[in-house]
Amino acid sequence: MNQEANASTVNDCSLNFGNLCIDEDNNSGGIAVQGGLIEIPQCSDQNPARNILSPGLCHTNFEIKHGISPSIIVIGGGFAGIAAARALHDAKFQVTVLESRDRIGGRVHTDYSFGFPVDMGASWLQGASNKNPLSPLIGRLQLKLYRTSGDDSVLYDHDLERYALFDMDGNQVANDLVSKVSVIFESILEETDLVRDIISRDMTISRAISLVFERRPDLRLDGLAHKILQWCLSRMEGWFAADANTISLESWHDEELLPGGHCIMVEGYLPVIRKLAKDLDIQLGHRVTKVAREENQVTVTVEDGRTFLTDAAIVAVPLGVLKSGRIQFEPRLPDWKEEAMNDLGIGIENKIVLLFSEVFWPNVEFLGVVAETCYLCSYFLNLHKATGHPVLVYMPAGQLARDIEKIYDTVGRPHDLYKKLRIPVEYLFFAGEATSFEFSGSAHGAYSSGLKAADDCRMLFREKYGEFDLYNPAIVGEETVGLLITRK
Ligand SMILES: Cc1cc2nc3c(=O)[nH]c(=O)nc-3n(C[C@H](O)[C@H](O)[C@H](O)COP(=O)(O)OP(=O)(O)OC[C@H]3O[C@@H](n4cnc5c(N)ncnc54)[C@H](O)[C@@H]3O)c2cc1C
Repeated sequence: MNQEANASTVNDCSLNFGNLCIDEDNNSGGIAVQGGLIEIPQCSDQNPARNILSPGLCHTNFEIKHGISPSIIVIGGGFAGIAAARALHDAKFQVTVLESRDRIGGRVHTDYSFGFPVDMGASWLQGASNKNPLSPLIGRLQLKLYRTSGDDSVLYDHDLERYALFDMDGNQVANDLVSKVSVIFESILEETDLVRDIISRDMTISRAISLVFERRPDLRLDGLAHKILQWCLSRMEGWFAADANTISLESWHDEELLPGGHCIMVEGYLPVIRKLAKDLDIQLGHRVTKVAREENQVTVTVEDGRTFLTDAAIVAVPLGVLKSGRIQFEPRLPDWKEEAMNDLGIGIENKIVLLFSEVFWPNVEFLGVVAETCYLCSYFLNLHKATGHPVLVYMPAGQLARDIEKIYDTVGRPHDLYKKLRIPVEYLFFAGEATSFEFSGSAHGAYSSGLKAADDCRMLFREKYGEFDLYNPAIVGEETVGLLITRK
């Protein structure tokens, strides 16, 4: 899945295909290392690392260049990695980020090829309230937000107002029928709670819905109402970036939905990443292939064979990269950590952004197509409402997204795996949205996981090097500023 964002023109519509789920790009052209870590020159003899990794070289270098301060390599320059690096940099650690692509942000990728910002990855602030760890930063940057849902929206990211649904023949569906079906959809989901209470073993949400229909045949729908129900289910799949027949009944409720509803970042997420990344030592085009834990230190090897020595490392790559084994850990990570990596599933979501010469669709916030199965249903976000540009964003998830990409993933959400994924192993720390149980799969989850890993790291080195003050977005010298929400 190396394709990430291509642009092509289809008649009067330009198209951007965003594909940011798990992978890193194949990039070259790294920047020379100049931060607080030691690059070990490549050696051609039998045992290169042993020849060069003398502690004397390492420590002398630190004392002369930087004084006593631990060096940290952060692997991965997505939200989690950049947040961790920012926190540790501000606490006077010697931090270098190694990022495989030729850009930072990972699954946050604001594209400007249409002449205005469009997010190809994360685009909503999920939970626009002061409970969201990202709110202080976004508020201070005075970035515009456009609200698409309040609390408890049945469609998760949208309120059922100002929308237009169509059938496959292009006929608009009556909104009062959609409202009725959405109430039934909520009842069905409530009934699945009962199924969960009665049957102790876990099952998929689609299996649970079948059992609900057996218990409550009155909730079965047919004809157009059935198609609308399938569409509601497809929105749920979109939220979890997974098919209903892979979403766990036991744990789909566990995700913490922050209050405040969801808001689109009108100017894109990139300004947030840029702010966090300011003045950090970030090495692009550095794909890490090996992480070796040695006594009190870590060596990190990149694709071209160069090796870096550091006091500790924060691994902030996507779960999919960890699962793929493309980064070799030496010695192997403990069994409990590997099991957590293997057992946790990953969702998949794509974005296809369509720019038209003019708006020809109704003045609504989103459009949808209802169909016999959720696989055939679709959803288009109307960016014109938020940004004024004639853009529709199509967001397939789950099997449909896989079929578009032709890649294979699995999905599941058992409980303590997130915790196991996050727990440090000696001088290795782990960050990334998949390590966040409450907020997995979100930008704010990735961000707070980075801050958490930085905090764990600080605790480890506190005794050895003294106290460090970590970056705290809520108090760093500036007053908290409220969010700039353009549609209340
Ligand atoms: C299409 C889409 C839409 C989304 N919409 C939303 C939304 O609206 N709101 C929301 O809150 N969240 C959304 N998300 C989720 C959110 O984008 C992610 O949860 C979050 O950005 C993940 O951040 P991360 O730092 O954990 O991982 P990533 O952003 O994936 O960062 C990992 C980084 O590691 C790098 N890397 C990988 N392998 C290596 C290696 N071997 N060596 C060095 N570097 C490596 C990658 O290139 C990448 O930069 C969306 C995701 C997608 C895909």
